[in-house]
Amino acid sequence: MPNSATDDAEYDLAVIGAGVAGLTGAVTAAELGLSVALLDSSAQPGGQFYRHPAPALGATRPQALHHDWSTFTALRRRLADSGVTLLAGHHVWTVVRAPTSGLWDVHAVTGADGDGECPVRVRARAVLLATGAYERHLPFPGWTLPGVVGAGGAQAMLKSGLVLPGAGTSSARAGVAAPPAGAKPAAGPRVVVAGSGPLLLAVAASLAKAGARVPAVVEASSYLGYARHPRTLAANAHKAAEAARHGAALLRHGVRLRTRSAVTQVHGSDRVAAVTVSRLDRDWRPVRGSGRRIACDALAVGFGLVPQLELATGLGCATRRAQDGSHVLVLDAQQQTSVPGIWAAGETGGIGGAQLAHAEGEMAGIAIAARLAGHRAPAGSGRVRALRRRRDRMRAFASVMAAVHAPGAGWSRWLDDTTDVCRCEEVSAGRIREAVADLGARDARTVKLLTRAGMGWCQGRICGAAVACLAAEGREERPPVPAERRPLAVPVRLDVLAARTGTTAPDPGDPQENAAENH
Ligand SMILES: Cc1cc2nc3c(=O)[nH]c(=O)nc-3n(C[C@H](O)[C@H](O)[C@H](O)COP(=O)(O)OP(=O)(O)OC[C@H]3O[C@@H](n4cnc5c(N)ncnc54)[C@H](O)[C@@H]3O)c2cc1C
Repeated sequence: MPNSATDDAEYDLAVIGAGVAGLTGAVTAAELGLSVALLDSSAQPGGQFYRHPAPALGATRPQALHHDWSTFTALRRRLADSGVTLLAGHHVWTVVRAPTSGLWDVHAVTGADGDGECPVRVRARAVLLATGAYERHLPFPGWTLPGVVGAGGAQAMLKSGLVLPGAGTSSARAGVAAPPAGAKPAAGPRVVVAGSGPLLLAVAASLAKAGARVPAVVEASSYLGYARHPRTLAANAHKAAEAARHGAALLRHGVRLRTRSAVTQVHGSDRVAAVTVSRLDRDWRPVRGSGRRIACDALAVGFGLVPQLELATGLGCATRRAQDGSHVLVLDAQQQTSVPGIWAAGETGGIGGAQLAHAEGEMAGIAIAARLAGHRAPAGSGRVRALRRRRDRMRAFASVMAAVHAPGAGWSRWLDDTTDVCRCEEVSAGRIREAVADLGARDARTVKLLTRAGMGWCQGRICGAAVACLAAEGREERPPVPAERRPLAVPVRLDVLAARTGTTAPDPGDPQENAAENH
């Protein structure tokens, strides 16, 4: 499993993202005879689900923070045996088709946050995009106070750093590392978990298991929405079992679950001291007078996940709107995007969880190997048919999940005009509303041009969903908003761009050129 590539190394397949989908796709394709490069910005493979501590942290039982760890160890073993070139710490900033060879050029930079040293180009006959997702955040008064973290972010802190929000490292380490002899465990920090989506239950269960006290899990939707889809639920019994496992863990730790409720304010002078939890109506508007204060040291809050599509939209891959309003890739039955030669698996095709990402990664690996061998589609073997059935069944569940946890339009009533919506550029809700009401902005892009909301370091990943909602506020009909296109998926130094100028000649008909205009 080499971890280096010379510039311009050529492969059959370049896989971007070494989470469940990318890892599975890469090893499947390599086992079918393809030469494969697997690039990921993280130092270790595993993605979000199998995020684990760096060896230097000395975790003796990293599996204690995971269920299904054996799937990951099996994938790691296959990776080691497969001949896949793993390029960890490689941030891919663009993918372009080389005009003469017809190969795909995958451009990456190495180093922490891409602030590194070495530009790298990998060339491949096909590309599998498995870039996963990031969290959807909705702002509310106090959300920028220290001690407020993303729900997935809290899970990531725990899985990779053995740290609990609102505390030092010691209490979390107790769950996975040997405790110091004679040490008395300290009372864990109080962490309220809030937002919407099944991730909240997983996060709360992990935090409680690692020693945090979780006063409440606050879910904005109602789980009753699932009951309207009994056939889809019955076909995905493993999801019900997963929810039951998390529910039992929460009961064991005495965690209260409050549905149709949201944290509408965070209190504290220099860090979180308490939160206000309000009841919500069906549209997520807070019910007047229903606010209750809960003392806590930290808040872990997230409203589901949004597919990470910068590379795909830069390539011109078609997207569609999922039931929760997010853009997801349009894929054919083989996992190919609308751009021939570009394939996708996992969260890029819609948020569906690790098992779906596994099935889609395998499906994509098999389909790409067949296509590069000159076949239109993989042979209809029993394995392929079983994978298709699994994928379709889990995709149906993913649609239900997206509909049940779709943010209600009334969430913006949590905001007051002084609440920062874009935290990178410190743009308040009041300024965005002014841009809409007084300056005529009708979409997030115009709001961005007028206020700088979404122009900072995160490039709208944190505030984008909120700004789009505020831009459409008060209008009866909401015109379809195209997926945002950016020519650069990660920050890149100007000298790296300049060095590449001569090698990838711009093509005026290329969708990526249009993407540059949109930036
Ligand atoms: C913050 C967070 C926490 C989560 N926690 C849980 C949990 O506790 N339990 C649960 O069931 N599910 C969790 N999920 C959902 C779960 O992780 C996914 O269902 C599953 O990981 C999907 O696998 P994937 O391969 O599609 O994506 P991921 O596992 O997200 O893998 C995508 C990979 O692509 C890499 N990547 C992205 N862009 C680039 C680029 N430009 N260049 C190079 N590499 C890139 C990323 O570094 C990442 O390793 C979480 C998701 C998130 C976002």
